[in-house]
Amino acid sequence: MIEIKNEELFGKIIAEEMASINGNRVLTTWEMTRFVNALAKASLRIQTSGTFMDFDRDNDKLTIWSDSNLIYTVGADKTCQCKAAINGTVCWHRAAKRLASRYLLAEAVSERREPILATV
Ligand SMILES: [Zn+2]
Repeated sequence: MIEIKNEELFGKIIAEEMASINGNRVLTTWEMTRFVNALAKASLRIQTSGTFMDFDRDNDKLTIWSDSNLIYTVGADKTCQCKAAINGTVCWHRAAKRLASRYLLAEAVSERREPILATV
C-alpha cells in the first residue's frame, strides 16, 4: 500500500517532474503531452488507489493491481508489461513508479530530519 501522508511533499515532486518534462527539449509536443498525461494519471492513481499498489524498496519495484484486474510490475529496468509499454509508448505505470519511489524516499528523509529541526 502506498499512502501519501505528506501532500505538500508529493505536490512538490509532481511539480518537479512536470518541470523536467517541460524542460526536456528532446521531446516532441506529442511526446510531451503523453508524458504529462501519464504523470497526471499516475499522481491521481497513487492518491486514490494507493491501496492497490506496493513499492518494494529493496528491489526498487512497484507493483500495481490495475482496474483491468491485471497486475503490472515496474522494476529498476523501468519496463512494464502493459499494452502501451509493449507498443513502445508512455504508460502511467512507469510514471507511477518514478513518483512513488521519489516520494517515499523524500518522505523517509523528511521524517528523519524532523526531530533535528525541532531542536533548532
Ligand atoms: Zn504500463
